[in-house]
Amino acid sequence: MSDRTNPNELSAKDRMAIDRVDMPEQNPTDRSGDFREVNLGLAERAAVREAQRCLRCKNRKCVDGCPVQVEIPEFVTQVAEGDFAGAADTLRRTNALPGVCGRVCPQETQCEAECVRGVKSEPVAVGYLERFVADWGMAYGDGQAVTVAEPTGRKVTVVGSGPGGLTAAGELARAGHEVTVFEALHASGGVLRYGIPEFRLPKAVLDAEIASLERMGVRIECNVVVGKTITLGEIREQSDACFIANGAGLPVFMNVPGENLNGVYSANEFLTRVNLMCAHLGRADGTPIIRGRNVVVVGGGNTAMDAVRTARRLGAERAMIYYRRTETEMPARVEEIKHAKEEGVELHLLESPLEIIGADGWVKAVRMQKMELGEPDESGRRRPVPIEGAEEIVECDVVVVAVGTRANPLLTATAPELKLNDWGNIVTDDSGRTSLPDVWAGGDIVRGGATVILAMGDGKRAAADIDRFLKH
Ligand code: FAD
Ligand code: SF4
Repeated sequence: MSDRTNPNELSAKDRMAIDRVDMPEQNPTDRSGDFREVNLGLAERAAVREAQRCLRCKNRKCVDGCPVQVEIPEFVTQVAEGDFAGAADTLRRTNALPGVCGRVCPQETQCEAECVRGVKSEPVAVGYLERFVADWGMAYGDGQAVTVAEPTGRKVTVVGSGPGGLTAAGELARAGHEVTVFEALHASGGVLRYGIPEFRLPKAVLDAEIASLERMGVRIECNVVVGKTITLGEIREQSDACFIANGAGLPVFMNVPGENLNGVYSANEFLTRVNLMCAHLGRADGTPIIRGRNVVVVGGGNTAMDAVRTARRLGAERAMIYYRRTETEMPARVEEIKHAKEEGVELHLLESPLEIIGADGWVKAVRMQKMELGEPDESGRRRPVPIEGAEEIVECDVVVVAVGTRANPLLTATAPELKLNDWGNIVTDDSGRTSLPDVWAGGDIVRGGATVILAMGDGKRAAADIDRFLKH
């Protein structure tokens, strides 16, 4: 069977006989010393062959698993036929950030988890194919895939330029509305820019996808802090509708003694200094960062993995994760854990800090409590329980706390009419409607720390509802 066999002529048996492709990667020894992207992307031939594995199911379970309803069988079939331009058009119709999603979405728990091929063998590598098509579109496409409706004369303001805000902005611009995005930082992209490192998501990919939204008419104004520079009330006076997607960027600390010592960072600060403020380049005019020899990162999510792999690249001899449960319960993407281990990151499981020990104001060590797993808690995961008297002292010079984030109160504190839950998240209905008739919200400010694609799904649903509201 040749790679270019007409996919219409392939039997289900032929398709089932093809093995899932592996993602080519930079070698771990080389990559743990620099910030270049780890995954290299599929070559055309490998992408076509992988796409031929798709069974083109009538009951499109993969699409059900995707919060933005990417037309997966359609674009995968186009790849199998070698029609990469067509596949890029198909993707862009439903997903404004395919190059981002192809790199950072947890496909293993979404589209690929639902793929019927996964029942008997491995699922179609939807994420790898999405990245392939997005990169092909960036390199060779004409960027004209999305047509924009005639101007409606209605104005919408979006707060926050993360994946939720960008998706809503793109959908609304496409519907002909005049869209302005207010972003507090000096650059757009939200966590995609200041949180996720270059070695997982190159800034050039994000820039290209934001540029294509701007070509559709989305206007992004940076350095505008809603709640300080402008209030929600003023925005409501100036616009016909507003979508809030200001994320959940307020770091949570552990409340153990020693957290104020020099050398202790929140993951948010640590990653922002590198990703947004180029601390890793070591420029005299740049922001400083402490390059620890022994770095302890506390947490088990994507943020913890990004922080520990960044510490390794900044020169840490020992870059260590400390997580209070086991690897099975770690919320990080499977690929990030695998990559971290390959890069020499140490995983220390079932341990949690009791105290950060310092000398002369600087971190010297962390006193760890050893744990065991007890009964499941409200999250369904087995609860970590301290083993009495089982402690360990871990010497280190930097500690990064990556145990979660909460809603930043800056905006909501100046908009008391907006209904919040007990954790400070904005309360919405399924369409993203808040307690205010012309204000919608979505993404992490509603869900708490979640995922890129869930924030995008919220942006898409809210944009559809805003469009109905404006056209009513
Ligand atoms: P955000 O991306 O947080 O964007 C919110 C934006 O609003 C920010 O730019 C912020 O500056 C701006 N803003 C805040 N307050 C104001 C204000 N008052 N006025 C104006 N602007 C404001 N998810 C995945 O699916 N895969 C991953 O691999 C992954 N890795 C992650 C790694 C890290 C380090 C982190 C922190 C998160 C990761 N996540 C990942 C989670 C994911 O990034 C978030 O769920 C997602 O970005 C949420 O999108 P959002 O649009 O709601 O908010
Ligand atoms: Fe293809 Fe899997 Fe979707 Fe079926 S479920 S159409 S095999 S990607």
